[in-house]
Amino acid sequence: MTPKDVLAFAKENNAKVVDIRFMDFPGTWQHCSFPIGELDESSFENGFGFDGSSIRGWQAIDSSDMLVIPDAKTAKMDPFFKHPTLVLIGNIADPITKEPYSRDPRHIAAKAEAYLKSTGIGDTCFIGPEPEFFIFDDIRYESSQHSSFYRIDSKEANWNTGKDEGPNLGYKPRPKEGYFPLPPMDKFQDLRSEMMLTLEDLGIAMECQHHEVATAGQAEIDMRFKPLLEMGDQLVWFKYVLKNVAYRNGHTVTFMPKPLFGDNGSGMHIHASFWKDGKPLFAGNLYAGLSQEALWAIGGIMRHARALCAFTNPTTNSYKRLVPGFEAPINIAYSGRNRSAAIRIPIGVDSPKAKRIEFRTPDPSSNGYLAFSAIMMAMIDGIQNKMEPGDPMDKNIYDLPPEELANIPSAPGSLEEALNALKEDHAFLLKGDVFTEDVISKWIEYKMEKEVTEVRRRPHPHEFQLYYDI
Ligand code: GLN
Ligand code: MG
Ligand code: MG
Ligand code: MG
Repeated sequence: MTPKDVLAFAKENNAKVVDIRFMDFPGTWQHCSFPIGELDESSFENGFGFDGSSIRGWQAIDSSDMLVIPDAKTAKMDPFFKHPTLVLIGNIADPITKEPYSRDPRHIAAKAEAYLKSTGIGDTCFIGPEPEFFIFDDIRYESSQHSSFYRIDSKEANWNTGKDEGPNLGYKPRPKEGYFPLPPMDKFQDLRSEMMLTLEDLGIAMECQHHEVATAGQAEIDMRFKPLLEMGDQLVWFKYVLKNVAYRNGHTVTFMPKPLFGDNGSGMHIHASFWKDGKPLFAGNLYAGLSQEALWAIGGIMRHARALCAFTNPTTNSYKRLVPGFEAPINIAYSGRNRSAAIRIPIGVDSPKAKRIEFRTPDPSSNGYLAFSAIMMAMIDGIQNKMEPGDPMDKNIYDLPPEELANIPSAPGSLEEALNALKEDHAFLLKGDVFTEDVISKWIEYKMEKEVTEVRRRPHPHEFQLYYDI
């Protein structure tokens, strides 16, 4: 859509309000609204002013005036607001120079796409994420008809302490048995369909929805692959729609990677491939039907995997998911079949167009613009430097004897380790000025100060079990 088309689209839909949205630094959507009369063709150049000082990770108070300039291509009507509202995603810019703001995640994704083109390797990076998440009851509805047996507290009590919660627990699904029997075991078919169909109505092509392995209402909904920046936009819409559909039904949704101890966590596997002039570059006749470029791209992800985790697994909670035994890959290896490897090559994919690699380490607490861009930069670095990925690992890594396991590098054990890895290894992200030194150092500082240190300073519930009686 052009600015003119957007104005016509707003009229057609009787929009009374325009809501401008952007992503803050850690990855939460922000917004502010204006009467629709404030939007005209010049708004797409001049933008709207706002105070950037209270946006997490951004400007100091003394230089906080910022612009958000809407991107006409992103126009959609909001499916939840009472008053018809046009939504536009914006880019952040300096109010005087109109220069794009270097810490705007969407701008980083746009630069990443431009950098790919400039290398001559390809013109498009397709991204297909598989976000998993948990649906819990909204406690406001606790006493209503929604008091399902998926209550987080009762599940915890049952699995973690082994304590009896009352009679007749035979009907209770056990951990890891959620994949994927029909109702009444599956309580959320209608809710997931409502989420999927709401997204489809917004023009987002959807692939499937299903219950996931964890019994406590874990789910997965998949979108059809799209170019990197477009998928970054779609992922924010996705999280917004899921949270709001859940909310209006008396539930909540969390993308926290490991909300429950003792059951599977939520990953966001990322499928990626490069294309050039309308042709896929990852299909070939090497291992698992891959091309040489695809193998080098795998080599790049493996080489930089520990640093990548700072963006693909960017929360302290991310590392509670990356433990053995829950289908979350902790070992940096690749394989055509093996889901315990960090990189899998989906097989049974005959069409060259569908040939891709699946990076399984990432989780949905990540900021999509940054995570997709960082992964793509590692793939480019792998291709530019012809990084061989070594031999594939076609055995189940979880079952390997310790001597063999010792030779396979593993993902960081904590957010702090990942941030240290990023500090040491980020030259591949700076190419083409995609991520700047300022973005990298601010990211590390923000995550250390606001998350690692703050979590470390607080008493942990498990410490009570360990030490209360000492
Ligand atoms: N939930 C698993 C993870 O953490 C993946 C399960 C699956 O999709 N096979 O990555
Ligand atoms: Mg899946
Ligand atoms: Mg899954
Ligand atoms: Mg997958």
